[in-house]
Amino acid sequence: LLSAYAERIAIANVEWGMMLVLRDVTKEKELDLKQSEFVSIVSHELRTPLSSIMGFTELLMRRTLDGPRQKKYLETIHSETVRLAELIDDILEIQKGEDLTQGTTKKRMDLKKLVFEMRPMFDLASSKHRIRVAFEPGRYELTASEEKMKQLFTNLIMNAIKYSPDGGLIQIKGVVQDHLIRLTVEDEGIGIPEKSVPFIFDKFYRADNSDTRKIGGTGLGLAICQMIVKDHDGTISVQSEEGIGSTFTVEFPIEMVTE
Ligand code: ADP
Repeated sequence: LLSAYAERIAIANVEWGMMLVLRDVTKEKELDLKQSEFVSIVSHELRTPLSSIMGFTELLMRRTLDGPRQKKYLETIHSETVRLAELIDDILEIQKGEDLTQGTTKKRMDLKKLVFEMRPMFDLASSKHRIRVAFEPGRYELTASEEKMKQLFTNLIMNAIKYSPDGGLIQIKGVVQDHLIRLTVEDEGIGIPEKSVPFIFDKFYRADNSDTRKIGGTGLGLAICQMIVKDHDGTISVQSEEGIGSTFTVEFPIEMVTE
């Protein structure tokens, strides 16, 4: 109770003695810390693609380059702009917080169909990984926001790609069990240190191993996933071993399964 941040609010003398009111502000202080961390991470993350865009546009303005080189620089500018836009989307998504699904409509949908429709996008995202999708037969129906479900799987699969070496196998599996739809995203990547596992769904948290630090990110993707899952009465969890890989599991209550 008397934590380092405990703050004395009031000491009041009353007729029968003294009353001491203490308020534990540990949480607020932690939040402050995370907010300042957030600002520094975000500024760094925004600055990196911006510097690259500025550098390449200046080059293109100053020099006359041959066709292939011009094309290569324009492609870099484009991909860095896309990264910026994604980062801004993540920040806005987090800011929305509890109102996450505001403006999106939920409707009856088939999760299996959605994942198969997204498959070409995953293949495009990395030609260096082997991506396999395997679902038990049937329809995986639930009432959900299609947009948010897409975002959930995009975040999990992009992480599997990002934190796995080239050539790694990524498996997306779907099963129906005990009135639940269970989807897993399994990778053979760097894994998550055991001490970091309890925190990885926290906003702005990034596991502290040297590999993670070299890989860009804001620590917002999994926090967004958790917000989406909660909003659909589901659960999200992870099993991971450093150097072996990670498996993220998402479960939703089932509404209907038909063959
Ligand atoms: P970001 O990837 O932008 O850092 P996330 O919220 O998506 O943020 O993930 C939080 C942290 O969890 C990451 O920084 C990374 O340390 C760890 N992590 C997430 N997915 C994986 C994965 N598939 N393999 C290993 N580590 C992961």
